[in-house]
Amino acid sequence: MPGPIPDYTLTRKRMKNVRMTVAHGSGEVRVSAPLRMPQRDIDAWVRSKASWIAARQAEAVVLPAPLAPGPEADALRRALRPILTALLDEWVPRMGVPHPTWQMRIMRTRWGSCNKVKRSVTFSVELGRKDYHLVEYVVVHELAHLIEPNHGAGFYAVMDRYLPGWQEHRAELNGRQVD
Ligand SMILES: [Zn+2]
Repeated sequence: MPGPIPDYTLTRKRMKNVRMTVAHGSGEVRVSAPLRMPQRDIDAWVRSKASWIAARQAEAVVLPAPLAPGPEADALRRALRPILTALLDEWVPRMGVPHPTWQMRIMRTRWGSCNKVKRSVTFSVELGRKDYHLVEYVVVHELAHLIEPNHGAGFYAVMDRYLPGWQEHRAELNGRQVD
């Protein structure tokens, strides 16, 4: 017995085969079909892909839409740069670490990363969308790596000392790691 037809938006195109995408973030199903393909055939085709669609939609909700280079990324960089500058100026002396070189990058899976040997810290451009206290948490986390490179007991002791309650911030930034 055929199941229900998943919701989808249809675009007719001059093409040979039907195609489908599931949008990042929204999970919206977009189908492109040949101009003369009967509606019932498209429905049947989409229905036959229902379990694939459900799996992609589950992923789409978990994974935020990837940020592409362009005006949005540039605006986020502009917003984030002075915040990071101020936070580093505040936290570097407070934690007694050497001032690192730092940059912002589009990062797919992480909010930040640190290379202790190079004293270099990288922040995700998408932190520009986050509340101040979450950016602060990532800054403190990366600076803590200038003291303790690995996520061991020593590292978490540094976090507890400088930013008690940091676990709540980590939970709020769910989905991606702070490396
Ligand atoms: Zn880390």
